[in-house]
Amino acid sequence: MKILVINSGSSSLKYQFIDMETNDVLAKGLCERIGIDGVITHKKSGAEDYKKEVDLKSHDEAIQLVLSMLQDDTYGVIKSIDEIDAVGHRIAHGGEKLKESAVIKDEDLEYLYSIQNLAPLHVPPAIKGIEACRKLMDGVPQVGVFDTSFYSTMEPESYVYPLPYELYEEHQIRRYGFHGTSHRYVASRAAEMLGKDIKDLKIITCHLGNGSSITAVDHGKAVDTSMGFMPNGGILMGTRCGDIDPSILPYMVNALGMSGEEVETIINKKSGLLGVSGVSSDARNVREAAAQGNERARLAEKILVHGIKKHIGSYVAEMNGLDCIVFTAGLGENSADVREWVCENMDYLGIQMDNEKNASAPRGQEADVTAEGGKVKVLVIPTNEEYMIALDTATLAAQDK
Ligand code: ADP
Repeated sequence: MKILVINSGSSSLKYQFIDMETNDVLAKGLCERIGIDGVITHKKSGAEDYKKEVDLKSHDEAIQLVLSMLQDDTYGVIKSIDEIDAVGHRIAHGGEKLKESAVIKDEDLEYLYSIQNLAPLHVPPAIKGIEACRKLMDGVPQVGVFDTSFYSTMEPESYVYPLPYELYEEHQIRRYGFHGTSHRYVASRAAEMLGKDIKDLKIITCHLGNGSSITAVDHGKAVDTSMGFMPNGGILMGTRCGDIDPSILPYMVNALGMSGEEVETIINKKSGLLGVSGVSSDARNVREAAAQGNERARLAEKILVHGIKKHIGSYVAEMNGLDCIVFTAGLGENSADVREWVCENMDYLGIQMDNEKNASAPRGQEADVTAEGGKVKVLVIPTNEEYMIALDTATLAAQDK
């Protein structure tokens, strides 16, 4: 079975075309600047990158271009669209109703329209992507894989905020959690690496990228996660603040005279590594500055590590134990420093890292960096959301036949 995976952003569209028999990515690419001017970067496995400026007025046109690239004589990998068995769409939010991956029906699309406000930057382009594919690939199953659905197993005490209950009931203000597809993928890979059934494991997965979240996976089910109503909440990120005292927000409005929009920009775009360090939202630049003695850069790193440790500790308490910690995403996969700082002085919880193995863990590969005799396994696992989306899509498309 061959699956096209699509991840639509407001002005971009990423894609991968995967052969599920061999797990090979046959081609992948990125359309950027949709609605502005347009550029496509396409890569057929084993070939040179193809990059071209093309006028892309809409997501429809971008998907049309992707389909023609996939059939191109030189850069293509199929002869006809019929070779695409199903399309898997990454959808950031499934609200309260779309609790698992599903072949998207008319009523699901209607529901997605109704929850656009919950993720205004992400859900509308995903809808556009699905609608364009439906139009261009009649009869091909269009599957939605939702970032939030992994968290549908959380209990109300994890997802209901201690606000007036009507805000949850009438306005759906609750913890949803994000990056679910990534956490689900690395948790299941961790179980495979350990040769155990995920139902026998207590796992904490740390997805540390520009956006970061930490999830507690108890016997295969997500029981808590650090991101909340929106992809803020939890630990310090590239430009987002994560958890703060909520009264800071009205204080910024009432005492400092900021507008709601300014407050939103501050907590989402001007905080985190960037806000504290004043240097950059990119952890590599912050590291460089800290190494040269920039104290605010060092403080930003310390706040990050402090937040990760706090979440790990609280999730161990929630699950009454821990078998495995997983590090993934840009920072989790690549920053041996952050992994080491997180794991140091955690031996009380049975977390012991082999610092040499950690420092020499090969980039882009899975690694077990647990110290000899360490009770809790410490793993580095490159995330692969596209593969997870393709897997769900293939399973659902086979059932849909
Ligand atoms: P996104 O959330 O946008 O998908 P990524 O998962 O790509 O983000 O993570 C981006 C973060 O990973 C940045 O802060 C970047 O500095 C960090 N990162 C990427 N490569 C490295 C590296 N080699 N060493 C340290 N940090 C890295």
